[in-house]
Amino acid sequence: MREFEHMSSVIDAIRFDRTLVDFFERQRDAILNKWLDYPVLNAIIDSLGYSKEDYHTKIASGVFNNFYRILCGERQPGDCPVMRSVVNEFYEMGLTVEDVFMSCTAFKNTLLLFLDDYGASDIKKHAANVMMVLDHNVYGVLSVYSEMKCARDEELAFRNRIIQENVLYTRTGTDGVIVEVTDAFCKLSGYDKKELIGNTHSVFKHPDVEPSVYSGLWETITSGEVWKGNLPNRRKNGSTFITTARIVPVYDSEGKIIEYMAFRNDITSDELAKIDPLTGLYNRRELDAIFQDLHMNAIAKNEPLAIILADIDHFKSINDTYGHKEGDDVIVRFAGLLRSCTRNSDVCARWGGEEFIVFLPCTELSTAFEIAERIRQAALSDLHIDEHIISCSFGVAVLEKGETTDDLFKRVDGYLYRAKENGRNQSVTQRTNPSLNLFHL
Ligand code: GH3
Ligand code: MG
Ligand code: MG
Repeated sequence: MREFEHMSSVIDAIRFDRTLVDFFERQRDAILNKWLDYPVLNAIIDSLGYSKEDYHTKIASGVFNNFYRILCGERQPGDCPVMRSVVNEFYEMGLTVEDVFMSCTAFKNTLLLFLDDYGASDIKKHAANVMMVLDHNVYGVLSVYSEMKCARDEELAFRNRIIQENVLYTRTGTDGVIVEVTDAFCKLSGYDKKELIGNTHSVFKHPDVEPSVYSGLWETITSGEVWKGNLPNRRKNGSTFITTARIVPVYDSEGKIIEYMAFRNDITSDELAKIDPLTGLYNRRELDAIFQDLHMNAIAKNEPLAIILADIDHFKSINDTYGHKEGDDVIVRFAGLLRSCTRNSDVCARWGGEEFIVFLPCTELSTAFEIAERIRQAALSDLHIDEHIISCSFGVAVLEKGETTDDLFKRVDGYLYRAKENGRNQSVTQRTNPSLNLFHL
């Protein structure tokens, strides 16, 4: 405090010396230019990758103005908003405390040189006082900087903890080897950090995901594109977690990919809510949403959308004869047939009980009909319980112009009804070939 009072009297003494203030005002540009030519400062500017002009406008002018205002008595040495903003710039530029100290010292030495060169005794006699103000300014800058850096470091540590705990993030080299993984991702996958770092993402590979999905993903990111998509993954304990992911290539300054960053969200519970637990197919609730999307897409792209409604024949008697559990098994096996007889782009869902729906985007009626027949034949040969052959019936339709999802569904339900009425074990559509002895509407 006593030191501060002493400083104030020094400043008071300088403040009334207009010659000194005028000197600094006149020499402003010369001092700044000389300072910016200072070798130590040049090294710092170079190491930051900044241009001299940037440093001049962002840092040097601020420091000079701060100092000049103190000399003019407009400010006390120590903390002030201008200094804070200057120090903030130091921080943003990535300067270390040493860099800051060296910059301030370079400034001090530059001023000293100017005062020496000027040579006027009335200025020189103030040199010691000017240096004292300057020293306080340097200490002020350093203490504000350290305080700010400390607060920022704490904030960064806090943010990092939030990220670690909440963001499902991994970073890999171009070889796919994990170099960074957050606590949140470890927790979700059941692995420790040390088990994942140095390993590849193949530990999460899920048997339900076609290899082509993984190769497509790699193709996308190695070509420099961002990959976005949903993926089921395997936990360490073998259970499934589903994520929606964005995998972003990271480039160096020459435009070469150096690593990949993956950001994910855990959508396991959302996805499981869409799935029928017995068959793993989409359930009825999700099916409505899918139907609306496919319907809109088909209209927008003017593409055909086909739908197959399937129902196992006399299923009640299967339950009655072999028991509910065996009935469940037939349902599961039928779901498997639907999957194997359709394309990846087709959507299979369990409508309820032993009724199923397949949506076939971009598919003409004749193809959809063939697929229904393929499923029917597969059921006849694969679905039996011992000697008991199990058949299925199908309604097949293609969305017509102006038709709502409800209209389409009612229509295909009507075809299924006809198939049942006509003796089961058949597929019916509006254009069924009569020679196949199938019901023709
Ligand atoms: P149809 O040839 O006319 O289709 O005769 P169906 O017996 O298959 O038709 P219905 O709809 O009358 O019977 C379906 C039966 O399916 C009734 C119900 O007990 C049974 N069911 C529904 N859901 C399940 C299920 O999840 N598991 C089992 N095992 N049976 C189910
Ligand atoms: Mg049935
Ligand atoms: Mg039924």
